[in-house]
Amino acid sequence: MSGTLRRPFEAVDHAALMAAHAPPPEYFEGDWLLGPEEIEARQLARLRERAERAYRVPFFRKRWDAAGVGPGDLQRLDDLSRFPAYRVDDIRQSIEANPPLGDYQGASIDGACEEPVRIFMSGATTGAPRPTVYTQWDREAGAILMARALYLQGVRPGDVVLNAWAYSTHNGAFAFDEALHKWLNCVVLTTGTGNVTSSRRQVELAHQYQATAILTTGDYLLHLAEVAREMGLDPKKDFNLKALPNIGDRAKLEESFGVANYQSYGFHEVQWVSVECPERQGLHVFEDAFVVQIVDPESGEPVPDGETGGICITEIYKTGSPQFRYDIQDLSFLYPREQCACGSWLRRMGPFAGRGDNMVKLRGVNVWPEAIGEIALDDPRLEPDWFVRALREGNRDEMVVHLVCGAPEAERPAIARAAEERLKDRLGVRIGVELALPGELDDWTELHSSPKPKRFRDEREGG
Ligand SMILES: [Zn+2]
Repeated sequence: MSGTLRRPFEAVDHAALMAAHAPPPEYFEGDWLLGPEEIEARQLARLRERAERAYRVPFFRKRWDAAGVGPGDLQRLDDLSRFPAYRVDDIRQSIEANPPLGDYQGASIDGACEEPVRIFMSGATTGAPRPTVYTQWDREAGAILMARALYLQGVRPGDVVLNAWAYSTHNGAFAFDEALHKWLNCVVLTTGTGNVTSSRRQVELAHQYQATAILTTGDYLLHLAEVAREMGLDPKKDFNLKALPNIGDRAKLEESFGVANYQSYGFHEVQWVSVECPERQGLHVFEDAFVVQIVDPESGEPVPDGETGGICITEIYKTGSPQFRYDIQDLSFLYPREQCACGSWLRRMGPFAGRGDNMVKLRGVNVWPEAIGEIALDDPRLEPDWFVRALREGNRDEMVVHLVCGAPEAERPAIARAAEERLKDRLGVRIGVELALPGELDDWTELHSSPKPKRFRDEREGG
């Protein structure tokens, strides 16, 4: 036979991988507790290596040449900002011009015998799916990062875990599967979604096998709790859940299962970036694998710590398709680097605070309707539903958020005032608050007729 056939297990030096990116539980006794100088020295070294490889990929070389920067310009971590950022639209254009993979991949299908690869696609909630080619090293390192997040969220080696995500062209279910099976020795029950395995069957399996986590959306997990109750089971007593790695209504999830919920953040092209520790003062970034910046949505320049802007990610762990200053347009902020009460010096970011795509200028201040919703709803007396309108009143731009509240008439003015104050505090700009009764916003939000509820309307002239 001609050519080399290098099998996936031969394509990765596992000792080197574990030295570079320690898996749990070892990680939490070691690199999790590194000091700030060591963290940043390692970031800089890996950033330089990553830049060398990224420069061989046409998508990056073109952009960097045009901006007059190259791998040699990385003398300090701050130099990263000299490299041009790009957004999802740039990736889409790259795919359109060079279908089906675009010119941003650093690994190929043709070379799969020597460098085994997998391809996964982003979810298609906003536009066409984006393919990412992962080398074996990238899969394994990504699985380690995810295993760390799951460990911190409460999953332990050897646990039985239900994976109720869809095994599809998307990375999600496979990434969880690999993390659990390969790096935590968990026994994965691959139930898939409710279309594949009925909700009653999911409940039976979770109960019979005493699963310690059910991986799925927070909404579906709450639905399973409902189904369990109908079947005569108590989700708190009859299940054995020890971890809630589910994104959704934190208060409801914790109340239903009696387990702490810790948030995490990641996305298709880079896998798992950060996770909340039990202190719940931000999400610690895995800085052996990432440099996270928060940038101004217009200028792309980094903003000061504490200020909200777009998350701009550079991964420093991959060998294949690079992501080097990817402005994903998710909103968050960075905490200053300081030691957390958990002992870690790893940089912390705020929780996901909405999408930055539909930023609105209000009297010179950047505001995002989703961030408004997030802040306004921080009150248990409000329903999780909202709608923001931008208006022109006289010669002044105004913004109003409509919130849904079932409280009695006498309590409503105080609830609205408290929401107004929260918004003023956090955003530095006055946003009006109006309370609606349950159901009253449905025509605006299309909550029951559209898969993605509408949250914003610009009613200003020419807006
Ligand atoms: Zn911490």
